[in-house]
Amino acid sequence: MGHLDGLVALVTGGASGIGAAITTRLRADGARVAVLDVAPEHADADLAVRVDVTDDASVRAGVEAVVEAFGRLDIVVNNAGIGAQGDVAANDDAEWLRVLDLNVVGVARVTRAALPHLRRSPSAAICVTCSIAATAGLPQRALYSATKGALLSLVRAMAADHVREGIRVNAVSPGTVDTPWIGRLLDAASDPAAERAALEARQPHGRLVRPEEVADAVAYLVGPRAASTTGVTLAVDGGMDALRVRPT
Ligand code: NAD
Repeated sequence: MGHLDGLVALVTGGASGIGAAITTRLRADGARVAVLDVAPEHADADLAVRVDVTDDASVRAGVEAVVEAFGRLDIVVNNAGIGAQGDVAANDDAEWLRVLDLNVVGVARVTRAALPHLRRSPSAAICVTCSIAATAGLPQRALYSATKGALLSLVRAMAADHVREGIRVNAVSPGTVDTPWIGRLLDAASDPAAERAALEARQPHGRLVRPEEVADAVAYLVGPRAASTTGVTLAVDGGMDALRVRPT
């Protein structure tokens, strides 16, 4: 018996990395899980739908496909996100708006489409994948940090708006997680192995965070054991935020 038995979840960006680990965890805990992703062919889920979170019609069709397949929707994991490098001047308006649109407005779009269904669930929960970048003041991550900072505010605002409807809204804030995303960044270095060793050495607990560790935090936050928890951000970062370590 899993603590999510009978519940239906959707995970955006669930075809890779952290989202894939969340999908696996929620399924193991008893939920039926649909992945909404621009690359659904890579997903291992009960349902995989091609959805681009920057396209409102695509998002609405994806959410309706989930409800049509399973008859309900209880859990929304807003996890899809992309990175951006550089200081505040490094990206032009078009790039700022593109990344804000995907990382922030994408969460609003998916949540807006899901809310009518969540209101009918006796155990509705939303979780947003935020980032250490929201609070750490990371160098050369201005645009990405701004999007994740916006999500922290959005999570609290949504928690306030929907608490009386029985819909909880929380966030996880991962540190440096060992996913294809980080792999791509390391592969771009002249010596990827040395770069990885240096990155691990900069982590407070001496290693990268595993995607499964983020998934465990999400599973707790969206499940019944967190029924009195809303509006919080749970750091899964080896202590980076609390210990004021900067992963420069
Ligand atoms: P990833 O690149 O491995 O996976 C991202 C997934 O999102 C992919 O499956 C991709 O196809 C999907 N996606 C991209 N654009 C999309 C769109 N427009 N619509 C729908 N799906 C889309 O990345 P990851 O490392 O697993 O990151 C997932 C989340 O975790 C992101 O929000 C990221 O900001 C956050 N995060 C990652 C780290 C890290 O170190 N990897 C740290 C903190 C936070």
